[in-house]
Amino acid sequence: MKIFLVNAGSSSLKYQLFDMDDESVIAKGNCERIGMEDSFLKHKTADGRELRYDEAMPNHFAAIKLVFKALTSEKVGVIESMEEIDAVGHRVLHGGDKFSESVLITPEVEKAIEETIPLGPLHNPANLMGIRACRDIMPHKPQVAVFDTAFHQSIPKKAYLYALPYEYYEKYKIRRYGFHGSSHRYVSARAAEILGRVGDPDFKVITCHLGNGSSFAAVKGGVCVDTSMGLTPLEGIPMGTRSGSLDPAVIEFIMSHENIDINEMTEILNKKSGVLGISGISSDFRDLAKAYENGDDQAKLALEIFNYNGTKLIGSYAAAMGGVDAIVFTAGIGENDSFVREQMCAPLEFLGIKLNVELNEKVRGKEVDLSAPDSKVKVLLIPTNEELVIARDTKEIVSKM
Ligand code: ADP
Repeated sequence: MKIFLVNAGSSSLKYQLFDMDDESVIAKGNCERIGMEDSFLKHKTADGRELRYDEAMPNHFAAIKLVFKALTSEKVGVIESMEEIDAVGHRVLHGGDKFSESVLITPEVEKAIEETIPLGPLHNPANLMGIRACRDIMPHKPQVAVFDTAFHQSIPKKAYLYALPYEYYEKYKIRRYGFHGSSHRYVSARAAEILGRVGDPDFKVITCHLGNGSSFAAVKGGVCVDTSMGLTPLEGIPMGTRSGSLDPAVIEFIMSHENIDINEMTEILNKKSGVLGISGISSDFRDLAKAYENGDDQAKLALEIFNYNGTKLIGSYAAAMGGVDAIVFTAGIGENDSFVREQMCAPLEFLGIKLNVELNEKVRGKEVDLSAPDSKVKVLLIPTNEELVIARDTKEIVSKM
């Protein structure tokens, strides 16, 4: 079975073609600057063939057409025609409280994704454009939506409700939703497999997805019970460019003192804050590490703030679950940055969390048990694979049709 994966943004579209017989990626690529003058597509096959098309892509429909041109081309093609594709899986950002699992896309589902636009105003319209473009080009192929929020729908009300007048929850569904759900689901399930705890209702794992956006989740018996992102991906730990949680009164204070409007404020919170805002250097942890080594105090401070907030979240989730059996580090920073892992774990020895410091410094990007032999809690590095989650869900759903 061949599954085509789409992750559509407002001006970009990432894709992968999976062969589900061995769960391998046959080809993948990226359309960028869709709707702009200088749009281009970059395509790569598993056997190392590459291609770039500098062609106009005025919209997502044109982008998908160009993707198929690449997928079926003589030089870098991997299929004869799009008929070889069995189904399409879409990453959709916000499922609101309507979707607790992946679903076959029907007109009703499309409508529900549309109704959720107020909660995901940047992403959901783009995701819908991807869905509609695929439907127009492949009207007979089943399409599946996999939501970033779905895994967190099991969070209890005491954990997802903000202490605002209740009517705002009732009127607008303002609450914590959480994101990176496919990643938290994948790595928490892998942790249970690795540690022989599959199906154990008492297995408590804290998953730390540390990338451009960072989020934590508390997962008990395979069920998510809390997560750090909220109504939007702005809440939680400070991130590359996002502030993370802060006193809500700060927003009004800055707006009135700087005489800026809500759009500028939102831009500051999302694009100019986090470790970039503190350091004034970069949102990329590789740049911060270099600056830190060169004695830059602001880079040091940015990393300290990031790590300190991570430590606090791990501690609070251990409290929320009444203990913890495993901590998982994943995504760009979690998989590669040994300093962050070490600094986040170091203050947590009182909880029985003890890292094998030497091993931690050596490894990156592969599944490894990083815990010291006498650590009560396992510390695992597990590379995430959100695409595989989407491909597997799509396969499962279309197999039942
Ligand atoms: P996204 O959230 O966009 O999927 P990733 O999970 O790929 O992001 O994470 C990207 C971030 O990971 C980069 O901004 C960088 O801070 C960090 N990163 C990537 N490689 C390394 C590395 N070798 N060392 C430290 N940090 C890294």
